[in-house]
Order: sequence, then C-alpha cells, then structure tokens
Amino acid sequence: MAGLVAAARARELGGAPLVFEKGDRAGGSMLLSSGVIWRHRTLDEFRSECPDGDLALQARIVDELDYALDWLERLGIEPVRRETGNPLTVGRRYDPRALTDTLVRAAGDVRLRQRFGETAQVLATGGFGVRLARNRGLLLRAAPWSEGDGLAFAAERGAAETAGMEQFYGRALPGPVQEDEFVRASQLYAGSALVLDDEGQDLGGAAWHESDIVQRFPGGKAWYVLDARALRERVRERTVADLVEAARAAGGDVRPAEQLPFELPASSKLAEQPFLAVRVYAGVTHTIGGLRVDRDARVLDRAGAAVPDLYAAGADAGGIFTGGYGSGLAAALVYGRIAAETALGH
Ligand SMILES: Cc1cc2nc3c(=O)[nH]c(=O)nc-3n(C[C@H](O)[C@H](O)[C@H](O)COP(=O)(O)OP(=O)(O)OC[C@H]3O[C@@H](n4cnc5c(N)ncnc54)[C@H](O)[C@@H]3O)c2cc1C
Repeated sequence: MAGLVAAARARELGGAPLVFEKGDRAGGSMLLSSGVIWRHRTLDEFRSECPDGDLALQARIVDELDYALDWLERLGIEPVRRETGNPLTVGRRYDPRALTDTLVRAAGDVRLRQRFGETAQVLATGGFGVRLARNRGLLLRAAPWSEGDGLAFAAERGAAETAGMEQFYGRALPGPVQEDEFVRASQLYAGSALVLDDEGQDLGGAAWHESDIVQRFPGGKAWYVLDARALRERVRERTVADLVEAARAAGGDVRPAEQLPFELPASSKLAEQPFLAVRVYAGVTHTIGGLRVDRDARVLDRAGAAVPDLYAAGADAGGIFTGGYGSGLAAALVYGRIAAETALGH
C-alpha cells in the first residue's frame, strides 16, 4: 500500500513517480486485508498499547490519519463503513479491491513483476514477514513477496534497524490456508478460550487484538479450548462457533477436548460442557521492527543522521508499533504520503 500511496501523492504534487512491484499483482497485503484503516483514539492510548514505539512517529498517525482518509475519498474511494466496529479505535473500512484499484490509478505508472533497482527513493516493500515466517517455521498470512528487500537495500547504505526485529503482527490460523481465506479462517477468540501449549500448560491471557498471545505460541502452535458458552459469543458479525466451523472447513483439527493428549487444567473458562479443542498456528501478517526513520520518513543511520535521498514507509519503516499492535494500513497511508512530500521537498 505505502508505495502506491507515495506515488499517488507524488503525482499530485507534480512529480513523475514510478512504482516497481515485484509481485504479479498490485496491492501487496493491502489487497488481502480486511481494509480497516484505523488509529487509537488518543496518543496516550496508542502509547500504552505500543509502549516501545517511537512517540513522534505514533503522533503523526494520530494527528494525520483522519486527513489522509479524507484524501483517499478525494482520490475517488468511498469507505464501505465510517467506523471500525471496535470501540477502542476510530477509522474507516474500505473494500480492499476498490482501494487497490483507486491507488493504482492515482499512482499512474505501476510496473508489475519488476523489482526496484538502484534508483529507489521510497522503500515500501512490506517488511520481511516472508523471511521471518520461513526462518521460524511459522505460517505466512500475507502476500508472498515481502522478503526484506527494502531493508537490505537500505542496510547497504548504512541504515539502522529499530528494536523489535523479532516482533510480528500475528493471527491464529487453523493451518495453511489459501490467501483468499486469510480473513475468514483466522481464529480470533483467544480471550474466550483456554490457550494451552502441547503439554497442556496455560499460556495466559490475550490482549484484545490477540497478536501478543499468537507471538507466544511455543514453536508456533497451541490449542484453543472452548466451552459451550464460549461458542455462543459474538466476534463482530459472527459467533465463535462460526469461526470454529471455518477452521474445520479449512481442514483444521477440531476435536472434543477429551481427545487431547493431556489433562485439561482447571479453569473458570471451562464451565459448560461439552468442551472443544481447536489446533491453531501462528500466522505472520507483517513484521513490526524495520528501518529506523524520522517523523518525515527519512531513513536514518546508526548515528541518527538521514541517509541521503532515502525514505521508507509501511512495514519497511519500524518503530511505530513496537511492543504492541496497530493499523499497518494506517501507517502505510500516513507515511506513504509523508515520504512523497519529503522526497519532493514539499
Ligand atoms: C489477511 C490480512 C488482513 C489484514 N487486515 C488489516 C486491516 O484490516 N487493517 C490494517 O490496518 N491492516 C491489515 N492488514 C495489514 C496490512 O495489509 C499491512 O500492514 C499493509 O498492507 C502494509 O503495507 P505495506 O505497503 O508496508 O506492504 P504491502 O501492502 O504488502 O505492499 C508491499 C509491496 O511491496 C512489494 N515488494 C516486495 N519486495 C519488492 C521488491 N524488491 N521490489 C518491488 N516490490 C516489492 C510486494 O510485492 C507488495 O506488493 C492485514 C493483512 C492481511 C494479510
């Protein structure tokens, strides 16, 4: 997303940008996403949810996202909803296909199946989730091209990395699923479940976004154990039972809890029989660590000086959500625009 946004903003400012896209389609993970572009309600809330991130970077998202969403509308895309459905956040929901098509049109010159070359100015390759998932034996829940090419290019030019290079935005999946099932098959009810490792040890509670617990799955896998009451709870427009059914339909391991290879620990979460167990795996959506950037999207070296003529946006830029979770689409939108403006001296 960030590359298309940067190009659209650059063209609006009178530039003649070129977008190189390694994949065979435009849109990256944005095209696969739920399309909810959101922010925390206040900077304090952002800060408490992502305590190790850079305050100055977080502030620009809180301050500028609403304006950037209006800008998207001026490009010609209407949101499908003007709220996120989550009382903790504010934002808008878009159809990801329409969003991609609008941005491709506004970006102008988008060259598919071409990696960026030596002249790259705005790095927006989506982080290194593909490499992180492969190295750690985790599932990938993202577009398949983000290997960290932007980070490698910048490192050769002296760029520094942020803290949190091991962190990722994780979602529980019932197993490997096709990319058009990434959203539907995600198992998003850790708060209602007893989350156990393969020895039956309780892995503890989860934050509302559940990215924390998914990163704690030992070896990238766990069991979600539910009682009958939990199955009736709602997760947005579906019930937990619907999500479990989606796991089963995707070929996941859903079984009566008596068939687990260990004794269930006592828990207030298991009150109403029957109990059901769902095998879940950590899916890497995107990385959280990345290139060190300043609030104008300039890539920085280890001394904190700007690497000449090099900017980064989206998941290539780290240090925004460190220690927590936030909207990757919001970061791509806000910092994609900023990168173009800084590059053009606007
Ligand atoms: C299933 C799913 C649901 C999601 N839902 C949401 C949501 O509702 N809200 C939200 O905020 N976030 C969501 N996200 C996360 C969001 O999609 C990402 O945070 C966002 O797309 C990151 O933007 P980006 O520009 O950094 O990366 P991308 O959008 O992935 O774009 C990076 C692009 O760079 C290309 N690329 C990689 N290497 C090269 C190279 N060497 N040369 C040229 N091109 C290259 C890739 O092919 C890709 O097209 C979701 C993600 C997924 C997968």
